[in-house]
Amino acid sequence: MAHSLIIGAGIGGLTTAALLLQAGHRVTVLEAHVYPGGCAGTFFHKGFRFDAGATLAGGFAPGGPHARLADLLELTWPVSPVDPAWVVHLPDGRTLTQWADPAHWRAERQAVFPQAESFWRTQEKLAAIAWDVSSRPFPWPPQSVTDIPTLARAMRPQTALALPHLWRTIGQIAPLEDPLFRAFLDAQLLISAQTTSQDAHALYGSAALDLPRRGVNHVQGGMGALAETLVVWIRQHGGEVHFRQQVAQITVEKGRATAVTTRKGLHLAADHIIANVTPWALRHLLAEAAPPALAQETQNLPPTWGAFTLYLGLDERYLPPGIVTHHQVIVDHTRPLGEGNSVFISLSEPGDTSRAPEGMRAATLSTHTAVTPWQQLRQADSPAPYCERREEYMNRLLVAAERAIPGIRRAVRLSLPGTPVTFAFYTRRPLGMVGGFPQTSLFQARGPAAGIPHLWLVGDSIFPGQSTAGVTLGGMRVATAVLQSA
Ligand SMILES: Cc1cc2nc3c(=O)[nH]c(=O)nc-3n(C[C@H](O)[C@H](O)[C@H](O)COP(=O)(O)OP(=O)(O)OC[C@H]3O[C@@H](n4cnc5c(N)ncnc54)[C@H](O)[C@@H]3O)c2cc1C
Repeated sequence: MAHSLIIGAGIGGLTTAALLLQAGHRVTVLEAHVYPGGCAGTFFHKGFRFDAGATLAGGFAPGGPHARLADLLELTWPVSPVDPAWVVHLPDGRTLTQWADPAHWRAERQAVFPQAESFWRTQEKLAAIAWDVSSRPFPWPPQSVTDIPTLARAMRPQTALALPHLWRTIGQIAPLEDPLFRAFLDAQLLISAQTTSQDAHALYGSAALDLPRRGVNHVQGGMGALAETLVVWIRQHGGEVHFRQQVAQITVEKGRATAVTTRKGLHLAADHIIANVTPWALRHLLAEAAPPALAQETQNLPPTWGAFTLYLGLDERYLPPGIVTHHQVIVDHTRPLGEGNSVFISLSEPGDTSRAPEGMRAATLSTHTAVTPWQQLRQADSPAPYCERREEYMNRLLVAAERAIPGIRRAVRLSLPGTPVTFAFYTRRPLGMVGGFPQTSLFQARGPAAGIPHLWLVGDSIFPGQSTAGVTLGGMRVATAVLQSA
């Protein structure tokens, strides 16, 4: 029986592990932290369960990645749909509600941005093509000859309608003259494609803009319950998941990956090693054995985004009654987004005592931030500048949140910040880089190849990139590649 070893219990790693287990492999997952989920984990703190990063659960509607995985594994996710998905708060005080229901959404967008109708029709057409293709195995970018026929089988006659858009960005098909519309699009794309309209690929960006219409869900117990569901499934089916086991090294012998060693000295041999890490972390794990292409890739690529997060325990009495659970605030459309100028706010569901004590709500606020300044300040001789910047960002997020949820400041009973330094510590992602690569070009997309036989990358660094739905698709692709290689 082939032995597959998975480094990391993020959604990408766990998905690959479950599928390989189901296909008859012996499976071992080694996770550095004490709970699974990584960026989509949920942590306990003083009576609250806070979503560490991801708060929007998409991909559960029929045909969606999580729904397909549930069918394959015969498992049930602890989710229920929410509508509206979220409310966008524009700098001029107007709001635009991201309804899941298409008719509601059409009416809403026509009321707020009537000039953009023809763009939305193109976006819907491209999104339908992208989602249709991704509902079948789609090993993009191809990394072996066996991928070519699979890619061909994923195509349909209507796929050809996307051809004129293969080299376009969202900025080239959207009417960006209205700065508020541009800011709106940019804010949506930043959270879903890690880049803004100027650079976001037209096809990828269109699919990403469709996320609310594809259905957003409430996860009972927090986002981490998705990873926990997979851990339970893996263990019930004879797989092993070990926590507090940080892999320190991948052994390469005679040109192929053969074993891993953890910081605690556990040494495990395996036929296949799947690393649920970023390319930078993979390079570190391979050390001298890193192939030149990986060394070059990690040297040449600029750092990806980081996140600044604020976890709040809120007294419900001070929150507006019936407040929607997810909000996105754009503070000032004349300034670049991120760095507290665009903030996503998610509240636990009212009455969900699995997340917060009676009468309280757990909230996660987040904004994109560049990782380097945080890391530089952390290494400075004095901790003061790092702490001052952290305080300043906490304040920025609260000021933004007050626009969406008046009274939120008065409701705060507990407050906990997270910087890229925090993400680096808890998710082991170098520099605290999260969310994977900006999706600017289909032809520069990164695949799972590590450059060493029997070793694969999985997670949001490989196409189709970030989100629990995205890494689930990546996990399915990697599981197939491992099985084909055997
Ligand atoms: C602030 C924020 C908000 C987000 N919002 C959303 C959202 O609303 N919706 C959404 O779908 N997505 C969202 N995302 C993105 C989403 O969370 C990620 O794309 C996805 O969860 C990444 O999954 P992954 O498989 O790449 O693994 P990761 O989440 O990176 O997990 C990797 C796991 O591997 C472990 N690990 C790493 N190195 C080692 C090692 N050497 N040994 C052992 N274990 C190791 C880590 O501890 C971690 O548990 C958000 C992300 C962030 C940061």
